[in-house]
Amino acid sequence: MFCVKCGKDCEEQINGLCMECFLNGRKLMVLPHHVDLQRCTNCEEYNIRDHWTKMSEDDAVQEAALTGLAVIPEAQVVSVGTMAQPQDERTYEVKVEADLDINGYMVQAEGSTLVRVKNNVCKRCSRQLGNYYEATMQIRSGEKELSDGLRDEVVRRIRDSVEQQAKTNRQLFITKVQQVPGGVDIMLSSISLARSLTKDLVESYGAESKESASLVGQSSDGIDIYRLTYLVRFPAYHTGDVLEYKGKPYKLTGLNKTGGKLLSLIDFRETSVRKSEIQDLKVLVKYDDRKEALVLSRSGNEIQVMHPTNYSTVELRIPQDAEPVEGGNVSVVQVEEELYYLP
Ligand SMILES: [Zn+2]
Ligand SMILES: [Zn+2]
Repeated sequence: MFCVKCGKDCEEQINGLCMECFLNGRKLMVLPHHVDLQRCTNCEEYNIRDHWTKMSEDDAVQEAALTGLAVIPEAQVVSVGTMAQPQDERTYEVKVEADLDINGYMVQAEGSTLVRVKNNVCKRCSRQLGNYYEATMQIRSGEKELSDGLRDEVVRRIRDSVEQQAKTNRQLFITKVQQVPGGVDIMLSSISLARSLTKDLVESYGAESKESASLVGQSSDGIDIYRLTYLVRFPAYHTGDVLEYKGKPYKLTGLNKTGGKLLSLIDFRETSVRKSEIQDLKVLVKYDDRKEALVLSRSGNEIQVMHPTNYSTVELRIPQDAEPVEGGNVSVVQVEEELYYLP
C-alpha cells in the first residue's frame, strides 16, 4: 500500500492517504463560536441537552461547551478536558482538549468556544409561579375540626413524599397549602400524585376518600381539561387514642384500609377489629390528652405511680416487657375515675 498523495509506503491508510497526509492541515474538531446556557432564575438549575439539572455554574459552563463539540467522522473521542475562564459575569471562554482515536492512532485536538449564561425560567417553575394545579386534596376530619396536630402531621407527610418523588419527576410539586374552615386544602401539580397521596392516607390512617372532577376548560386542540378534587376525611380516631371496646379501654395501635388493631389497657392483649366496628367506637382519651406520671416503685407487673392530678399513690398493671424505672415517667390515661398505664 502506498499513499496516493506523497507516494510513501504505508501500512494503514485513510481514504487512500497515509496518516501524515490525512492529518496535515485537517481540522479534526469543531466548536461553535458560542453556546447559550439557559439558567432558571427561580430554581437556579441549568439546562443541558434539554434537561434541567442542579449543578454548579462552573460545571454547567463546561458541560454546555461540550454540547457544541463535533469531530470528523473518522475520529472517536476517547477523552476530553475543559477549562473555563470567565470573560465577564455572563460569559466564559472554555478551552477544550480532546484525545481522538483515528484508526488506532491517538491524536490530540483543541479548540475553544464562548459560553453565554442566559436567564430563563424552567417549565416547572413557570407552572409553579403561575399557580398551576391539576388536583386538590381537601383534608378534613370526621369531627367538627381537624386538630392542629393531625393537620401538621398530614401536611408534613405530604411534603416529605412530594419532595422524595420530585427527585425523579420534576413535574411534581405542591402549588399551595391553604388553611380553610374545617381543615386544609392542598393543591398539587399532578392528578396521579394526588391520587397516590390520597391512597396513602386511606391506607395509613383509615381515612375515607371521595373523588370528583370538574371541567375547567379545553386545551388548544379541543381536549377537555379536568381538575380533580380528593376529599379525604380522617376518622375521629387516630393511632394512639384510647377507645372504648366492649365496655373496656383499648389503645388503638394501628390502622389500615380494612380495620385496625386494639391493645387492651387491662391485660395488654391485642385484638383486630374491622373498620366498620372501629367507626362505632367511642374515643375515651385522645392521644394528645395523655398524661405523664412519676414512677415511685416497681414490683413485677405492677408499678406505683404518683397520680398526675391529685398526687395520690396509685398501683398500675404494666405489660411483662415494659421497662418503667423508678424515678422515671410513664404515660397514663384517666378514664372516669380509673388511671391506666398507656404502653
Ligand atoms: Zn502521504
Ligand atoms: Zn426552575
